[in-house]
Amino acid sequence: MQRLARKWQRTGARIGFVPTMGYLHAGHLSLMKRARQAVGKNGKVVVSIYVNPTQFAPTEDLSKYPRDLKHDLKLLRELKVDVVFTPSDSEMYPGKAENRFSTYIVEEKLSRTMEGASRPSHFRGVATIVAKLFNIVLPDVAVFGQKDFQQAAIIKRMVCDLNFPVKIIVAPTLREADGLAMSSRNKYLTGDLRRQATVLWRAIQTTQTIVKKSGTFPAAKLKAELKRLIESEPDARFDYVEFFEPDTLTPVSKVTRGMHMALAVFIGKTRLIDNAQL
Ligand code: AMP
Repeated sequence: MQRLARKWQRTGARIGFVPTMGYLHAGHLSLMKRARQAVGKNGKVVVSIYVNPTQFAPTEDLSKYPRDLKHDLKLLRELKVDVVFTPSDSEMYPGKAENRFSTYIVEEKLSRTMEGASRPSHFRGVATIVAKLFNIVLPDVAVFGQKDFQQAAIIKRMVCDLNFPVKIIVAPTLREADGLAMSSRNKYLTGDLRRQATVLWRAIQTTQTIVKKSGTFPAAKLKAELKRLIESEPDARFDYVEFFEPDTLTPVSKVTRGMHMALAVFIGKTRLIDNAQL
């Protein structure tokens, strides 16, 4: 992959890159279209499909994470992506089975809250794999989804802090007709769980209405109200709601317009996240 990227670079082609864990949906495809738009028809678009073990905790759904490479490749062929990079664990983490892999990237500020608090070492895995993929794919531009808002902030920080010569584009979240953010994990939402999952979007909309009406609202009171709303669904378990400054991710005690909110909720056994600007 790296050799091919070098060859492309020598011809002057720009490289656009979209890292994914596969089981692709329209949200993923929108990132690839954005990447194509960024590099033009003479550029090259690379998509990686790799379910990265180091970003999953031992208790999480790594082995059960949905996979359908055949279908993914069909979608990517239709989209005229140039290369699909699908490395194996032993290629990405050489020596890990023998306990020799020992270099990781740790972002130390933005990754402490929200997803980082609920999933310790998740962002260490994310930053490490993205850095490795950047070194392999050598992209000029990489596209990430706003769906994973904190992840995008951490990647932008890492690129700046470690001088990766990559422009990061953050693309909007694609939603189902009822507001549920598209996600590979939505596959697990069977029966009534699918309806209950719309509570994340309802929580966001409720907050947007409150902020629009009142101008400023105490974060603690809003969190308590949203927790109640979420737990009114029989199979929903509240993980967190946070209100914060979009650039620094610093939590705010008073929620106003322009602030950002993010939340995580278990619907049955499936953990869903979402976020929006207020
Ligand atoms: P994943 O395969 O879940 O690791 O996601 C790969 C990329 O797709 C990440 O940059 C995600 O933020 C992005 N993504 C996931 N869901 C959506 C969505 N509904 N809309 C737009 N981008 C998304």
